[in-house]
Amino acid sequence: MSAFGACRQMLRAVAGRGWRPRSSKPAPSAHAKRPGAGFSFELTDEQKEFQATARKFAVEEVIPVAAQYDKTGEYPLPLIKRAWELGLMNSHIPESCGGLGLGTFESCLITEELAYGCTGVQTAIEGNSLGEMPVIIAGNEQQQKKYLGRMIEEPLMCAYCVTEPGAGSDVAGIKTKAEKKGDEYVINGQKMWITNGGKANWYFLLARTDPDPKAPAGKAFTGFIVEANSPGIQVGRKEMNMGQRCSDTRGIVFEDVRVPKENVLLGEGAGFKIAMGAFDKTRPPVAAGAVGLAKRALDEATKYALERKTFGKPIVEHQAVSFMLAEMAMKVELARMAYQRAAWEVDAGRRNTYYASIAKAFAGDVANQVATDAVQIFGGNGFNTEYPVEKLMRDAKIYQIYEGTAQIQRMIIAREHIGKYKA
Ligand SMILES: Cc1cc2nc3c(=O)[nH]c(=O)nc-3n(C[C@H](O)[C@H](O)[C@H](O)COP(=O)(O)OP(=O)(O)OC[C@H]3O[C@@H](n4cnc5c(N)ncnc54)[C@H](O)[C@@H]3O)c2cc1C
Repeated sequence: MSAFGACRQMLRAVAGRGWRPRSSKPAPSAHAKRPGAGFSFELTDEQKEFQATARKFAVEEVIPVAAQYDKTGEYPLPLIKRAWELGLMNSHIPESCGGLGLGTFESCLITEELAYGCTGVQTAIEGNSLGEMPVIIAGNEQQQKKYLGRMIEEPLMCAYCVTEPGAGSDVAGIKTKAEKKGDEYVINGQKMWITNGGKANWYFLLARTDPDPKAPAGKAFTGFIVEANSPGIQVGRKEMNMGQRCSDTRGIVFEDVRVPKENVLLGEGAGFKIAMGAFDKTRPPVAAGAVGLAKRALDEATKYALERKTFGKPIVEHQAVSFMLAEMAMKVELARMAYQRAAWEVDAGRRNTYYASIAKAFAGDVANQVATDAVQIFGGNGFNTEYPVEKLMRDAKIYQIYEGTAQIQRMIIAREHIGKYKA
């Protein structure tokens, strides 16, 4: 059976569990069914199904091997293939390209559960969503069918190549350039910290097309889809990071890489807006990942506190410990509400930049605070690799750095907030 046939079979199996409509009509999203309807914390049956499937996968298949992947830094390919088979990755690829076409809200529910299992695995999977998002929001039909369709046919990876050694937060400072030569663009430059960099089948790449340093960011940059096997691409070594160690992070050099003009997204000069616009849809899932990690830390700390005894009673009965757990629970609940609001807004078709940054900043901080508190509750054991929480503390840090640092999120929130008063 072809890979595509196998994939269709998988999707049918998913449909059998109620994931997809049995009719040929596209499934309306949970929100489209009830546009702007009331206010409810109740998930639909379908959403509960996604959540339960992702949770089962995380608990039964990811958690048992997560520590080993963390230790070796090996790319978790078997887990990624399994997530793909279960429909737990690329879930937002439109139905027109063979995907499930899920909303951001549903994707976030899945992401939280995957992150509960291991955020290294979740980041590798989320790296695909980030790479795909510019094509989803700005790709033409041909580009979408070719590059998104491929991800449904096979468990392939892609990557989002924007950051450079000299520019991360200051995206407009990137130096990679693309020069038009006939029907092609020739790309030269260097990208850094690219998730799935060594595993990707194709990249979304942002490059400067207007050499005039005074050109505004909104016109100076262009977004390209670049085949990873193009001549002139050199993928760097796998970086060994503090946490999320099984995720593949690399630098990539582009030297005279030729890209056909058909691979330009929207048009020359539209790249900055596309690259930044993708974040409205990808920051809520990043926040959901941070919540999954925090929830895991809370669960581990609570179980431990119920068992560990000091001064003749379980430590959970010391008020100082139970209050720490209460604080941790408050933070998890509120961070979850923040990502759900951000996801809900964008699914409802509204600009969610403000909510996406609040969710990303808040959940990123919460993941770090809750993981640190979990280590504290474990005492000396918390500092040791035999117990799960030191990994959580290391894994948490990146949520305050990638997809816009904690400081950049605050700049966005302040701009959006103050803008309402100036309007
Ligand atoms: C594991 C990992 C995976 C990543 N994956 C990807 C990926 O797939 N694709 C991709 O393109 N990039 C990726 N990145 C890059 C990531 O998005 C950047 O590292 C991040 O945006 C910060 O940029 P920087 O590292 O250049 O830090 P800088 O921009 O140099 O910032 C350094 C510090 O200064 C602060 N700062 C900067 N400017 C301001 C300001 N104006 N006001 C206040 N504080 C400021 C920052 O918050 C930070 O604390 C990844 C990074 C890592 C570590």
